[in-house]
Amino acid sequence: MSTESQVNRMEKIVSLCKRRGFIFQSSEIYGGLNGFWDYGPLGAELKRNVKELWWKSMTRLRDDIVGLEATIIMHPSVWKASGHVDTFSDPMSTCRSCKKLVRSDQVWDMLETTPWAEAVRSCAPGGVADREALLKWAKGKGQRLVPNFALVKDPETMLGRLSERSAEAPGSQQHLLQILCTADPSGPLSMPCPHCAGELTEPRPFNLMFKTYVGPAATEDDIAYLRPETAQAIFVQFKNVVDSSRVKVPFGICQIGKAFRNEVTPRNFTFRSREFEQMELEFFIKPDEVVQAQTGGIAKLPEGELPGQPEANWGWEMWHKYWVEERLRWYESIGLKRSSLEEYWQKPDELAHYARATVDILYKFPFGTQELEGIAARSNFDLTQHQTHSGKSMEYFDQEANLRYVPHVIEPSAGVDRLILALLAEAFEEEEVVDEKGQKEVRTVLRFHPRVAPIKAGIFPLLKNKPELVSKALEVRDLLRPLMNVFYDDGGAIGRRYRRQDEAGTPFCITIDFDTIGENGPEKKDTVTLRHRDSMKQERVRIADLPAYLLSQTS
Ligand code: ATP
Repeated sequence: MSTESQVNRMEKIVSLCKRRGFIFQSSEIYGGLNGFWDYGPLGAELKRNVKELWWKSMTRLRDDIVGLEATIIMHPSVWKASGHVDTFSDPMSTCRSCKKLVRSDQVWDMLETTPWAEAVRSCAPGGVADREALLKWAKGKGQRLVPNFALVKDPETMLGRLSERSAEAPGSQQHLLQILCTADPSGPLSMPCPHCAGELTEPRPFNLMFKTYVGPAATEDDIAYLRPETAQAIFVQFKNVVDSSRVKVPFGICQIGKAFRNEVTPRNFTFRSREFEQMELEFFIKPDEVVQAQTGGIAKLPEGELPGQPEANWGWEMWHKYWVEERLRWYESIGLKRSSLEEYWQKPDELAHYARATVDILYKFPFGTQELEGIAARSNFDLTQHQTHSGKSMEYFDQEANLRYVPHVIEPSAGVDRLILALLAEAFEEEEVVDEKGQKEVRTVLRFHPRVAPIKAGIFPLLKNKPELVSKALEVRDLLRPLMNVFYDDGGAIGRRYRRQDEAGTPFCITIDFDTIGENGPEKKDTVTLRHRDSMKQERVRIADLPAYLLSQTS
């Protein structure tokens, strides 16, 4: 559950995102559109950096992965074959009072954060209800907040029922809320609507794909879908990639792109959006039987050890663990601490029917520990499905083994927007510092890893009305600009310029002062003050050394 200080922290992050141009509500001037977000100037740079780092680590720094960029709208049969048309749905309930829709599996999570549920819980410390307090609340504040709540409509009757039913699950806050909102005494206990405490309908499946029509006729036959994931295009183009790029199993195809899901309850800022971006890899491997036949045995990982470098005798389990480790390491390389991440190994009854194992990489967001990426061992389910539905063979001819098979796959699937949010949450800090005049002040700083930071260096002439300082500063800007994103700023006191860059997460600031232009002796000429964001330490650096130093820190 998120504590008050974490809720507060989240509010500060959202407000900083808007104030500094990281993330805006989509179509804000028209009241916004729920579940859609735009990235402002700093957000766009941050996102671009993250995607480029992922792409580079997957493709350019490896021999065994190639890229793909497919369309958002594909043949509708793709989604029939993948199972999305029939099964990509969330159970959803409608509130009989306020008519709002809620995802049935999220009701309790939502209830945790509503003020009215909080008020009820506070009348039941440890799950044992304080009847007097509940009655007072129901007849007072409750009337205003949630008039549909059964407890508010008829407090005496609902409280009377409490003792009989509390015995069923004593001590549970969830149980207490359910009792207090179930108007029908003979019916089963139900979850209340998190918006108004009204009664929710039975869950019904709701397909999450956005529909559209291709062509002007717009008949049922012209229905197409905006892709709900980028992965399927990779399976669909598997044959073309194999035939055109001389890759050999084991190998991967990766893609970054937009995905769309008509989420029932988009929430937690960008965490659950309706339009978002994914970075997905399908890593194709030999079936275990083929590895066994070729190498005489499948490698097993001793308890507590990490997989190391790929070997010919790796079966799906080793490959799966390898990718979990690779992905965790990548997150660390861009600034997420291991201690902020968790691995969640799905239990057998949670696995999709085709999955052999799935690990969720979770991040400790201020609103709770939630999924950042899923890494699934998906057997050969997807390629086989497309083979069956398209009638085209998805078999791969393995020259080493001299046989044909449909490869199996390990799928690390990450969300760009969730990662951006995690990076912002990880980086955000307010610290008390003492300014030049000895006054205490709060410094808001985004401690981004220099690799992802939207701006790598701020460049400041000490004074803007001194032409020599300005022209030297512009020279430094022009030296660095082709190499990285830098920001020239000559407005206001230098301390304020530093603070602005702290809030933008800029790791370095360069000040061009009188030393730089040689006013204090030739040995200091062409040196600048380099200020480090995190320590706020300053050092003297030669202009000629700046490019190499900054590149080594930011790439
Ligand atoms: P969840 O259970 O949170 O709905 P999921 O398990 O359905 O997520 P996947 O289908 O595995 O998600 O998608 C892979 C990744 O895509 C997720 O780990 C997440 O980072 C991202 N993602 C999925 N849905 C959304 C969304 N609505 N908004 C933002 N990112 C999303």
